[in-house]
Amino acid sequence: MALLDVRDLVVEFPTRRGVLRALDGVSFSIEKGEVLGVVGESGAGKSLTGVSIVGLLERPGHIAGGQILLDGTRIDNLPAEPMRRIRGKRIGMIFQDPLTTLNPLYTIGRQLTETMQTHLPLSDADARKRAIGWLDRVGIPAAAQRIDAYPHEFSGGQRQRVVIALALCAEPALVIADEPTTALDVSIQAQIITLLKDLTRDEHTAVMLITHDMGVIAETANRVAVMYAGRIAEIGPVETVIRHPAHPYTEGLMASIPSLEHRVARLRQIDGAMPRLDALPQGCRFHPRCPKAFDRCRTDLPDLMDAGATRAACWLHA
Ligand code: SF4
Repeated sequence: MALLDVRDLVVEFPTRRGVLRALDGVSFSIEKGEVLGVVGESGAGKSLTGVSIVGLLERPGHIAGGQILLDGTRIDNLPAEPMRRIRGKRIGMIFQDPLTTLNPLYTIGRQLTETMQTHLPLSDADARKRAIGWLDRVGIPAAAQRIDAYPHEFSGGQRQRVVIALALCAEPALVIADEPTTALDVSIQAQIITLLKDLTRDEHTAVMLITHDMGVIAETANRVAVMYAGRIAEIGPVETVIRHPAHPYTEGLMASIPSLEHRVARLRQIDGAMPRLDALPQGCRFHPRCPKAFDRCRTDLPDLMDAGATRAACWLHA
């Protein structure tokens, strides 16, 4: 059984001018200990998928269809309190800006010990000892002294290290990391990704890593899901998706990663922009930009189908 199973997820936002469907039939799973990268342009639905899983979708947005299962149990229809317990204990979260996670009024020691004691049976002394251990593991120097400092006393990179400790300290089975390094200096980004990778591997934690940075996915993920206009365009093993993409959108995306030297010769941009949710084209949502589009693409919406070693939502594989 998969650790996380997202089935046909639909998320809608009612607006004055009608209902916007921001996620439309998103399905994927994550196995225990696996890292799934989720990549796509902003507005493709990556973050929305993450917040839907942890029950933090902002009103009036709501889940209008589908199911989310954690270890075989539905969590998409839970009341607020049991869902709050799942966040933290079963699913840890790391967001782009550490300041949205950290409470500026509490020392980081208090935040770590409270998180652990909410979810694990620990005495005050044991929780404090563990908190120091976590700060040490995430690379905060002089952890035994810094534990009593406040968030503003840390640099941006250190704050994100603290957030990683907070996300992992209750030993969750899954961590959802949404652009965990985007707000940080480039020089620090790689360190944070390496830290996240090492710690989650040691703890056998599954990770859903949401990013627009294909380079990060290439270095970190086992599988990758490519999102486009509220749907998954392609999903498969990261190596295959990068080297032999089956969906023309993925192909364009991969061709524009400068760091993969063997692709530089094909460096090009995908013409046009992703459609707005209130102006989705009929048929395949990528067809106005797709160099391989044919008649069927303009009328029928493709679902994910087998495409060699990956699955792609593209009629070329029908
Ligand atoms: Fe291109 Fe057609 Fe495939 Fe869509 S279904 S990606 S338009 S070839």
